[in-house]
Amino acid sequence: MRRTTGELADGREIIYFDDTPDAPPRDAVDTRDLPRAQPLSEVRRDPLTGEWVAMAAHRQTRTYKPPADLCPLCPSTPGKPTEIPESSYDVVVFENRFPSFAEGVPDLPSTVDGMPMVARAAGRGRCEVVCFTSDHDTSFGSLPASRVRTVVDAWADRTTALNAIPGVEQVFPFENRGEEIGVTLSHPHGQVYGYPFVTPKTERMLAAAADYQASHGRPLMGDILAAERAAGTRVIAESEYWTAFVPAAARWPVEVHVVPHRQVPDLPALTDAERDDFASLYLAVLHRLDALYGRPLPYIAAWHQAPVRTGRDLAWLHLEVFSILRTADKLKYLAGSESGMGVWVNDATPEQIAERLRATHN
Ligand SMILES: [Zn+2]
Repeated sequence: MRRTTGELADGREIIYFDDTPDAPPRDAVDTRDLPRAQPLSEVRRDPLTGEWVAMAAHRQTRTYKPPADLCPLCPSTPGKPTEIPESSYDVVVFENRFPSFAEGVPDLPSTVDGMPMVARAAGRGRCEVVCFTSDHDTSFGSLPASRVRTVVDAWADRTTALNAIPGVEQVFPFENRGEEIGVTLSHPHGQVYGYPFVTPKTERMLAAAADYQASHGRPLMGDILAAERAAGTRVIAESEYWTAFVPAAARWPVEVHVVPHRQVPDLPALTDAERDDFASLYLAVLHRLDALYGRPLPYIAAWHQAPVRTGRDLAWLHLEVFSILRTADKLKYLAGSESGMGVWVNDATPEQIAERLRATHN
């Protein structure tokens, strides 16, 4: 992998990750006349739950489903400059022009309208876009393993970089795929968020891990992994360093967790062998997901990593991939029970979901 950094016309950072050192030099200049954007994100803490909510009103003006010949994530061509000045690339990362969190957001009063119970802060952090390929008409699941390995290296690089930004408390690489998920650009890409707080989900997971560690003296995920591999009923794919399984209490109509066999806090801690092995195993999982309904599956792929400053000895890196599609053309909606109470009702058992995924032919 070769890493080259540059700057876009409005001062945002861009980083090229090339599969091999002999890729063309990445020194094209961004010729656009692009004013520097002033993100105005803020976060407010919900006094009823203690959870932070982000507000980023400037995002309303972001690019929404442009025609393919105006895709901002394709390489630039003469007369049609995009977000990527180069005429080709392998993997490229740049700061989001419409970020939910950004460095340099101005200070705000520490409460909302002087209400002492509603804490408020500038939405300081960082949001980046990760383009997986310059090919507009493909998908992550169709990439070669060598490219997936470059993407893993890029995620690890960005995790290290964002972990070091003052105020960032947790780094979250993820991919939203498919119109049903609300993706506004169809070019294969994901994002990395550097949050200014530890996310509620991670806080709950770390609390569960701490309880288990205290009562059993062993990591929770290690015991789950051993039990899932022994039972085998929910396992989708296994390799030397990773296992993919439907979790025993799956919430979504399609849900797979991809877990490394060794406890590591985050992506930068993975060895070369573990990264290569992940690339092959994850592609096998994605092929099964796309084969499930005979159409590209809309999904969310979410990396769970240790926060920057807490729980680093408790966390166990893993990827959660899930879909809202419960049949080839029916969506699961987050309705009363899920949205109102946070109680998921799944129409299928995790064992049935695993059986369907294992039965796919790809
Ligand atoms: Zn494109």
